[in-house]
Amino acid sequence: MTDAMRFETAAIHVGQEPDASTGAAVVPIYQTSTYVQQAVAKHKGFEYSRTDNPTRRALETCLAALEGTEHAVAFGSGMAAIATLAMTLNSGQTVLLPDDVYGGTYRLFAKVMGDLGIGFTTVDMTNLDAVRAAVTDELALVLAETPTNPLLKVLDLSALAEIAHGAGALLAVDNTFATPYLQRPLGHGADVSIYSATKYLGGHSDLVMGSLATGDAQLAKRLKFLQNSVGAIPGPFDSWLLLRGLKTLAIRMQAHSAGAARVAEWLAAHPVVTKVYYPGLSDAQGHEVATRQMAASGAALYGGMVSFELESEEATLAACERTKLFFLGESLGGVESLIEHPARMTHASLAGSGMEVPDTLIRLSVGIEHPDDLIADLGHALS
Ligand SMILES: *Cc1c(COP(=O)(O)O)cnc(C)c1O
Repeated sequence: MTDAMRFETAAIHVGQEPDASTGAAVVPIYQTSTYVQQAVAKHKGFEYSRTDNPTRRALETCLAALEGTEHAVAFGSGMAAIATLAMTLNSGQTVLLPDDVYGGTYRLFAKVMGDLGIGFTTVDMTNLDAVRAAVTDELALVLAETPTNPLLKVLDLSALAEIAHGAGALLAVDNTFATPYLQRPLGHGADVSIYSATKYLGGHSDLVMGSLATGDAQLAKRLKFLQNSVGAIPGPFDSWLLLRGLKTLAIRMQAHSAGAARVAEWLAAHPVVTKVYYPGLSDAQGHEVATRQMAASGAALYGGMVSFELESEEATLAACERTKLFFLGESLGGVESLIEHPARMTHASLAGSGMEVPDTLIRLSVGIEHPDDLIADLGHALS
C-alpha cells in the first residue's frame, strides 16, 4: 500500500484497473485454462492458468497491497498455503508451533510433514523463556498464530521475531483471525503472513482459499515456484469472489469488532458465565500487546471472535443448541454469527494430545448483524 492510498481504497482499486479490452469496471472472471500465443513462445504474459491467471493475479496484487508488501501468493485453501510454505523447508529442519495451534496445522506437521523428515515442537508462545528454551540448531521456522483459536491468546510478534531471527529461523504468522486490517505481522518483524481466506478475507462463508504474503523477494520467488510446481491453486471464480470480499473487509472488520466487544462485555456481566476470552477486555491475557499490535487500522480493534465458559458441559451443549441467530457450525469470519463447542467440534481431533480445550467452552464468531439482536439471542440461550 502506498502512503497515498489507504487500506479501504487499496482494497477496491489495487490490481483492479478497468479491463483493458472492454472497460469492465470489475475484474472479469478469466475462466480459461490456456491462452492463445501470437507465435511460438510469444504471448501476452499468460501461458497456462496453473502458472498464472489474470483474475488470480489481480487478487494477489491486491492482497500484497493490503499487507503493505510486495508479494502475495494465493492457494486453494489455508491448508494448501501452509503446506506450500512447509515445502520451503528441507528434511532434517524443524518447526516451532504454539501449543494451541490451529488443529489442521498441527495435523499437517504431526501426520504429513513428519514423514517427510520435517520435525516440530509445540510450546506455549505466551511464555518467551519457554520459546527461547525450545530453540535448536535445526529450527528453521517459527509458526505463530495470534489471537489463537479458540482461547484468543495474544502473542508478542516483535519478541517472537527477535527470537526466531536470533536462531537463524523465519517467523511466519497465521493472521487469519486478525486480518491485515487489524494487524500486519510483517510490520512487527515477521517474514510471512498466512491466511485462511475462507474466513474474514472472503467474509461471506462461500469460498475456501488461502494466501501467503511476504516482503522477502527470494522467499516469494520460491513460493511462486512451489505454487506452480505443487499446483494447489484457487480457480478464477473463487479468486473473483475473494476480490469482491476484500472490498468490504475494512467495514466488516469494524462491525465484527464493535459487535464482538459488545457481546464480550455483556457476557462478562452475565451471572451464568464463568469466564470470557476476548483480547479487548482490559483484564484479558495479552490485552496490552493486542492494543499495540492490533492497531493497524489506526485504533486498536480486537476482532470478531469471542469465547466463554459456563459452569458445566451440559449447560454448554444446551446453550449451543438454543441460539437462533447464531448458527451452530464450524468455521468463522462470515457476516452471519456462528456458535460452536470446540471440544466436540473444531477441536475434537485434539482429544488425547494433551492440547485439549475445556469442555465447558463455547466459541462465537460474531457476525455483523445488529449487536442488540445477537445479545437478545444469547440472552435467551443462556436463560
Ligand atoms: C481455517 C483456518 C486454517 C485453515 O484454512 P482452510 O482455508 O480451512 O484450509 C488455518 N488457520 C486458521 C487460524 C484457521 O482458522
